[in-house]
Amino acid sequence: MQQIILLPEYIKQLLHCLDTRGYSGYLVGGCVRDALLGITPEDYDIAAPVPPEVLLGCFPGYKVLQTGVRYGTITVIADGHPVEITSFRREGPYTDGRHPDEVAYTDNLAEDLARRDFTVNAMAYRPDTGLFDPFGGQKDLQRKVLSCVGDAEKRFSEDALRILRAMRFCSTLGFSADAALMQAADMCASLLQKTSAERIFVELVKFICGKYAGSVMHQFAKPLCTVIPELAPAVDFDQKNPHHIYTVYGHIAATVDACPQSKVLRLTMLLHDIAKPYVMTEDENGIRHFRGHQERSAGMARKILTRLACDRKTIEKVCRLILYHDIRPAADRVSVHRYLLQVGYEDALLLVHVRRADLSAQAPAYHFQFSLIDQTEEIIRSLQKEGAPVCVQDLAVNGRDLISLGVPPGPQIGEMLTCLLQSVADGTVENARQALLQKAKQLAGEIIHKEK
Ligand code: ATP
Ligand code: MG
Repeated sequence: MQQIILLPEYIKQLLHCLDTRGYSGYLVGGCVRDALLGITPEDYDIAAPVPPEVLLGCFPGYKVLQTGVRYGTITVIADGHPVEITSFRREGPYTDGRHPDEVAYTDNLAEDLARRDFTVNAMAYRPDTGLFDPFGGQKDLQRKVLSCVGDAEKRFSEDALRILRAMRFCSTLGFSADAALMQAADMCASLLQKTSAERIFVELVKFICGKYAGSVMHQFAKPLCTVIPELAPAVDFDQKNPHHIYTVYGHIAATVDACPQSKVLRLTMLLHDIAKPYVMTEDENGIRHFRGHQERSAGMARKILTRLACDRKTIEKVCRLILYHDIRPAADRVSVHRYLLQVGYEDALLLVHVRRADLSAQAPAYHFQFSLIDQTEEIIRSLQKEGAPVCVQDLAVNGRDLISLGVPPGPQIGEMLTCLLQSVADGTVENARQALLQKAKQLAGEIIHKEK
């Protein structure tokens, strides 16, 4: 059946620019795959039988970025969208398992597609000639199967990142890897040690954010544990604890699937219990305990994410969420307000997702606690709506007010503000200027009294 892909006007115009110069450009890779799956492509990649120096001159009137020109790629900004346009390339020899030794150009489309990773990513499309699918990508799309273009082991040996890309596509598209790919992924997993942290992290994040990441974690445990060796002891680690029905790795995978598909939350779940095998103790009844695993997991997460070149902001957030993932305040106003003093609104709302995901992957006997989490969330939201203070800056008084009451400048100011904040959380004083000043006077009196 002839496939028709509807293209945005700005893409048609870029193809037209090439056509007028006598070159046939094709849409290739992810946009063809996604369009055939009925998913609107996030971006469009074009390939053309044109050397990069010539490509540069094919788009007059457009802003052209030359960033990848050494590898045959230019970026044209069309209608505000960056579109990558790449010269047809042939696979050069790989000696380092990371990048081809040289970039070799070709004018043969089939050759360009042959160097691509998976059959579903190795299709090309032009409105006038339709789909070009020399490796059976369309059939694999229909069967929801991911298979390599050519020999899987050879392709993974050339570039081990393709293993992580396979995990990513299985996780995001819900495809299963074919047997040859699966076998080659295990065989070649150790080659990932040579792949750069930056490339790994980009694919790891895409993988972990996929809808099916948890189940893919089971199939691809070996490559994942090559990228994160600290995770290996979790595989098959029996928790021997009434709260748990899964191994540590199984629990982690189930929590990944159960939480929203955001980078911070998914990385948090992936690493939240990673230290459990390292801190385990077993009591006289054979029940295992994991005291301190929150701190240890947060520490390990920091090391792992730093090594993987994760950005600072994400590291800080993930580590905080891991550190606090097991705090379960009672579902009453005072307890939740006190909890908010520790974690703040933003993290408290993220931790609601973390706790739900964590609980869903624990023994069903404890699932009654879902309602406690729901109530906690409701209280957090209503405190937030009221503007209840959760840090000293939110108080209706500040350090200067205390100094004008006669409190000497210095650490006592901070201590007193904290004390006022706690009193507000406990409901013993309102967050109102007069009430707080009165309370402050009383506290100052107590301090002076104590000092005498
Ligand atoms: P998306 O853009 O949705 O993330 P994509 O399939 O377009 O997915 P890209 O990383 O943008 O992924 O790569 C574009 C295309 O380039 C791929 O579809 C594939 O054909 C090819 N490709 C990318 N990386 C590799 C690789 N390491 N080995 C072989 N081919 C690759
Ligand atoms: Mg792409």
